[in-house]
Amino acid sequence: MAELKNKKKRIAWFGVPAHGHINPTINLLKELREAGYDIFYFGFDRFRKQVEGLGVEFISCDGYNDDLDNDENMVKFALELSYAAELLADSILALDDMISEKICQIEPDLIVSDSLAYWGKLVAMKYHIPYVSSTTTYAFNWYSSWYLGYDLKGVIKLIASMPKMNRELKRLRIKGYHVANIFKIVCNDRLTNTIVYTSKEFQPGGNTFSNKYCFVGPSIRPIVTRMEKKAKKTIYISLGTLISSTLFYDNCIKAFSNTDYQVIISMGNNAMKYRDLPENIEVYESVDQVAVLSIADVFITHCGMNSASEGLYYEVPLILFPQTPEQWAVANRVKELGAGENLVSIEAECIFATVERVMNSEKCKFAAKQIADGFKKAGGTKKGKEFIEKLC
Ligand code: UDP
Repeated sequence: MAELKNKKKRIAWFGVPAHGHINPTINLLKELREAGYDIFYFGFDRFRKQVEGLGVEFISCDGYNDDLDNDENMVKFALELSYAAELLADSILALDDMISEKICQIEPDLIVSDSLAYWGKLVAMKYHIPYVSSTTTYAFNWYSSWYLGYDLKGVIKLIASMPKMNRELKRLRIKGYHVANIFKIVCNDRLTNTIVYTSKEFQPGGNTFSNKYCFVGPSIRPIVTRMEKKAKKTIYISLGTLISSTLFYDNCIKAFSNTDYQVIISMGNNAMKYRDLPENIEVYESVDQVAVLSIADVFITHCGMNSASEGLYYEVPLILFPQTPEQWAVANRVKELGAGENLVSIEAECIFATVERVMNSEKCKFAAKQIADGFKKAGGTKKGKEFIEKLC
């Protein structure tokens, strides 16, 4: 009996290949490892080092479906539900044998999967293993889904794609996954244990979620490489790790060249194209974003959940430039709470005017501070660990 009690608890964790989905989970994984859990991480080789560094056992999902670990496909996935259904079915079927075999060997006490790593959710259902959804975006229910901003065109597109989605589901059923409809996989219901990496206040309709939802607040990485503040006002611009637009970057540079502002732009590979820039404009492939935000006065962001949360954590007002429905949800919420304003055009004049307005708005700064205060009180990874502990 004592032996059973002392047996280390095992968690199988399923991730997806995107920084924005991995970064918020790192502190929680670390906390669980320190608490003595054995963690088996089903992930993608690009992120192997980051995960293994936590003392977690890594199981590679590479080589089963090449369409999966591809940044462009991740964006398409977020934009088109019918494509998402296809990629989903392909990936689940491709990974099924390997995952099933490993899960039978590991015999985990709990499965945690990213809200997009549906193969983790389905395998938990298949083997009746307690399950937690790790949700790095907002949690979506009937209320918060309105924030996604689907217009009539979007709804028609969704209905038109239903037959294709049903065909994909048939492929899953043949393999033993009895899923009634795509929403049963994509959405969590009131009974699904769910960790959400934001505060209840920042979550749209925070009070409409059951007590199965644990809002732990964003997990902010410590600053590693400090950034020098070279001017009175610093503008930070980034469209995250998946999206880029040279026209937008060109216009930002045009808007702020030779002004008194320090402008820092993170733009992935595009950075190589920009040479001989004015002294006040700094472009990088990648920056230590939290370091930059700690000195920034305004942030033009694509409204990825992590970027927006990191900016608000540092009480930086946001200029909202969302590209996918999930990013629209973040933008709509930030606007509703008064901590930012939409960028309505990417003309240089409009970018300049919006920055001046938001950066100098006491109302926006105050709202950002209020959200930051909520984040700091949310409970963090300790609360996430306790939630998981109860389920194990
Ligand atoms: N990030 C970073 N340096 C950069 C750009 C991004 O460290 O130059 C990090 C950022 O701090 C955030 C993540 O990458 O944690 C981006 O996640 P988000 O959800 O905002 O957007 P995504 O890239 O998934 O669209």
